[in-house]
Amino acid sequence: MPFSHHARQCPEPTASVRECDFTGSPTEGLGALLGAGKRSATQVESEGARRARERLAQFDAAAAETAEKSPPLENYANNSSPSPRNRRYMLRSALWDVSSLKRCRSCGKHVREASGEVGIRVTEGHAGFAGLVTCGSVWVCPVCSAKIAATRSVEIGCVVARALSEGCSVVMVTLTLRHDRGQALGLLWDSLAGCWKRVTGGKSWVRQVERFGLLGFVRATEVTHGQNGWHPHVHALLISERDLSSSEVDELCTSMWERWASKARGLGLRSPLMQASEWHRVTADGSSGTSIGDYLAKGVLAAGAIGMELTQTQSKVARSVHSTRSMWEVLREAVEVGEAGAVRLWLEWERVSKGRRSIAWSRGLRERFGVGLEKSDEEIAAEELGGRDDTIAFITRAGWASMVRRPVLMPALLDALESGGIGALHTFLSENNIEWRPA
Ligand SMILES: [Zn+2]
Repeated sequence: MPFSHHARQCPEPTASVRECDFTGSPTEGLGALLGAGKRSATQVESEGARRARERLAQFDAAAAETAEKSPPLENYANNSSPSPRNRRYMLRSALWDVSSLKRCRSCGKHVREASGEVGIRVTEGHAGFAGLVTCGSVWVCPVCSAKIAATRSVEIGCVVARALSEGCSVVMVTLTLRHDRGQALGLLWDSLAGCWKRVTGGKSWVRQVERFGLLGFVRATEVTHGQNGWHPHVHALLISERDLSSSEVDELCTSMWERWASKARGLGLRSPLMQASEWHRVTADGSSGTSIGDYLAKGVLAAGAIGMELTQTQSKVARSVHSTRSMWEVLREAVEVGEAGAVRLWLEWERVSKGRRSIAWSRGLRERFGVGLEKSDEEIAAEELGGRDDTIAFITRAGWASMVRRPVLMPALLDALESGGIGALHTFLSENNIEWRPA
């Protein structure tokens, strides 16, 4: 990657520590424990939290078992960490009991079909389930988020590659706000949206579009949490039909930053620091469009977020005081450790992120580069692998109920099928007593 990412670093020292403005306490799951009188508790305990924690333990035990069986070298390499897919399934199964969002409590668990059966599909070496409810939450669900990120990443990668091949300039801009611990996520996110609107609206922007030959932008919002509280920020790719010089890029981005900072001050936030924002040209030789797409979509939504380190909750002790953590890390901590601060953060996250866009395109840019109509997050998440003809077996209603009790079996079944074929699938189903029928 030809660019640094210092936007993940919060440059400000902690200022004031205030109580989170968490108000919407759901009646079940983790939220039930955060009612009046319980706020000072450092550990939370509930039936839902206990079930969620047990599910995480299933995955950890399976990973440890795999590591034990593996030869030493492989053992060293996988370090008993679950694979990315396992981690996503693991965290999603925790949401079934602790999420305040109804759709996330059903995702990948409830069956859509009246028969109660779940299809097992395989195509081109990939295995998947069919007939399940999906939540489509890009912010809260690790499984849907990864799927949405993969699609968005390809689209962004396509646009960047096509733009570069046509001799257009692609500029990556990261804009950050200054924030303090205790500031409400809703306020910061609204401010971020307001600032971006100011940057890309009004006469100044129209003048810049003309002067710099701008064709449009794609904007990704990322939110992390750190020592200085919520850290929402914007990454955007600007595309110009011209070959912009370095000084032109500086002029364009400095002016954007000035509007950004002025709006932030107008909204009552402290003046953003210019060194906490950055911009640079994306070049064809240094980075492919695909890697930029990955960075914008997957980095923001899933890949960086579900990294190796988040399965190691103790490693947070070693983290630098200025570093921020992804919301998946917060979820893991909320569920596994039951730490009240993490629980409150997660529930505030669920409440505030709902309905907000992660990636937005300026009008006409997708059409200009031929990436077609944009599907919604829900549509992407609901897409199933292959078609009906690719279904090789059905898990019965009773079989699926037993898998829901042991969600660690879900990614394990897909792994078995992908690596060992139909024979391995049959062995897996019978060894784990899962009722099924051939398709
Ligand atoms: Zn989901």
